[in-house]
Amino acid sequence: MSYKMTRDIIKNSLVQKIEELSGQNVFDCYQCGNCSSGCPVVDYMDIMPNQVLRLAQLGATEDILNSETIWICSACLQCSTRCPKGVEVAKVMEALRSINLRKRIGTLDPKKIEIEDLQNLPPIALVGAFRKLTG
Ligand code: SF4
Ligand code: SF4
Repeated sequence: MSYKMTRDIIKNSLVQKIEELSGQNVFDCYQCGNCSSGCPVVDYMDIMPNQVLRLAQLGATEDILNSETIWICSACLQCSTRCPKGVEVAKVMEALRSINLRKRIGTLDPKKIEIEDLQNLPPIALVGAFRKLTG
């Protein structure tokens, strides 16, 4: 896949929001791959953690927000402790989940969640939704 690079795309408003919420500079990442090699659930992700950072650097934020990776991430912090550049990747993942959830409206009644959904949804997705959509 090819990506068009312009100043506006690279530093778009969503990249700025990711940096604002996470407190991280995505451009500090130099793609060593340490975060992905230590991630315990990387085999289940469609985009590896280092690729999340690269796509953010390219301004391809919609690709990240639509990925399964941000919901597979279990927020274990392994990536953050392994990064030689001090990038707290787990905070970037949390920021991406927050941005995704903020785009949604509605409420969530825990008693009305289908048993099948409880069995299949990633736990981090439920935790995020409980934070956002319950009183
Ligand atoms: S915080 Fe998420 S991305 Fe980082 S190592 Fe843990 S599961 Fe992987
Ligand atoms: S460990 Fe840090 S520098 Fe290396 S790829 Fe991951 S975020 Fe980038």
